[in-house]
Amino acid sequence: MVGSGIAGIQASLDLAESGYYVYLVEREPAIGGTMPMLDKTFPTNDCSMCILSPKLVDCGRHLNVQTLTNSEVTGLAGEPGNFKVTIKTKARYIDLAKCTGCGSCADACPVKVDDAFNQGLGKRKAIYKLYAQAFPNAYAIDSSKCLKFKNLNNEKLCGKCLKACQAGAINHHMQDEEIQIEVGSILLVPGFETFDPAQLALYKYGELKNVVTSLEFERILSASGPFGGHLVRPSDHKEPAKIAWIQCVGSRNCRINHGYCSSVCCMYAIKQSVIAKEHADYDLNTSIFYMDMRTYGKEFEKYYERSKKQYGVNFIRSRVYGLDPGEKRQHQHSLRLRRRYRHHRRIRHGRPERRLRTQQKSGRTGQRTGRRTEPVQLCRRTATDRRCHQPTGHLRSRRLQRPQRHP
Ligand SMILES: Cc1cc2nc3c(=O)[nH]c(=O)nc-3n(C[C@H](O)[C@H](O)[C@H](O)COP(=O)(O)OP(=O)(O)OC[C@H]3O[C@@H](n4cnc5c(N)ncnc54)[C@H](O)[C@@H]3O)c2cc1C
Ligand code: SF4
Ligand code: SF4
Repeated sequence: MVGSGIAGIQASLDLAESGYYVYLVEREPAIGGTMPMLDKTFPTNDCSMCILSPKLVDCGRHLNVQTLTNSEVTGLAGEPGNFKVTIKTKARYIDLAKCTGCGSCADACPVKVDDAFNQGLGKRKAIYKLYAQAFPNAYAIDSSKCLKFKNLNNEKLCGKCLKACQAGAINHHMQDEEIQIEVGSILLVPGFETFDPAQLALYKYGELKNVVTSLEFERILSASGPFGGHLVRPSDHKEPAKIAWIQCVGSRNCRINHGYCSSVCCMYAIKQSVIAKEHADYDLNTSIFYMDMRTYGKEFEKYYERSKKQYGVNFIRSRVYGLDPGEKRQHQHSLRLRRRYRHHRRIRHGRPERRLRTQQKSGRTGQRTGRRTEPVQLCRRTATDRRCHQPTGHLRSRRLQRPQRHP
């Protein structure tokens, strides 16, 4: 099993229960993947660690599962039913059999670095555990940050962790290892990579401190996160009055070759807006700016409806195309969104007909037939939406022509 997120862990446990021996290969120092970073999970709002922790323990205890952390597959030979896999394990500099996970070494370590698990919102030490409930329950040394690695032969360089560790588990001289295993099948479950919004300058991510990614927001909400679960702005650590979620940043955007839908952002934005309201003991204003609400799974639509009716989350169908710092005097550090409303607003004010007439005059509503462009009348509701190519008449009934819904 290559990858030990929730998918890899569950598949390993299922196979192990069926009698197969499983090697669970993970490149990080602990298994778990993205799920330990989450606060609560839709659609039940259960705490994510409450779901994951028992599975971590099961993986650790199961006689049919061998966990290989800090490891990556570097070679593969053979055929289905008979593979030879080469796995490279990076040195952890801590003996897994001896480390008790007490944390005395991290307390003694003087080096602080940005904590990638907390999305850079907090700090960790050069000797660290990935997250509190991590399996294996052992520390690891980040050799790129540890002072000792400037010169391993110099006994005088730091070494504070060595003195603090009662178990004698630390060894800065450990080497990388390579092993070969024989397996019948390989499952690739490497999960996903997040989109870096800094490449879309219009959202000013990285420039304005209070513009955060969804994973950063999960860490802000999380009790084990950098602010202990207290909902505050990263800029000044004060409680926000309003929060806006901008959807489809990095997805459904052909200009950056991401024409596809992530299939998860709508749901977790709803979840985050609800959980944020639960965290705030004041009337927090939460708004989601979306193109389409894609609540495709079991009970997801009910979850969406509940967020509107029970929690009062605002849903605004529009496309945000810019972000500016707001008025400093009224709301310090506030942001102002520039947005375009989609066609349903214009229809309400009778504008599409006018626009359609203008377009017909200029021939811009034509559909391509071979090399010629023939003008056709487009559907009233979608006349202003350049991506709809349906001819008029596909929305016959008056009910469907209403602004709220499009089939
Ligand atoms: C902000 C946010 C909120 C979310 N909220 C929810 C929610 O409320 N409810 C819900 O159901 N879902 C939610 N999701 C989705 C959920 O987190 C993912 O669907 C799930 O974590 C995916 O699990 P996975 O095992 O496929 O991948 P991951 O959790 O990404 O795990 C993949 C693992 O594979 C490892 N790996 C990758 N490549 C290699 C390699 N070459 N060698 C070795 N190891 C490798 C990685 O290090 C990682 O540990 C959310 C997602 C985000 C981003
Ligand atoms: S040697 Fe020093 S810097 Fe390196 S992990 Fe130990 S205490 Fe931290
Ligand atoms: S002090 Fe030693 S036993 Fe304790 S967590 Fe650090 S390495 Fe492990």
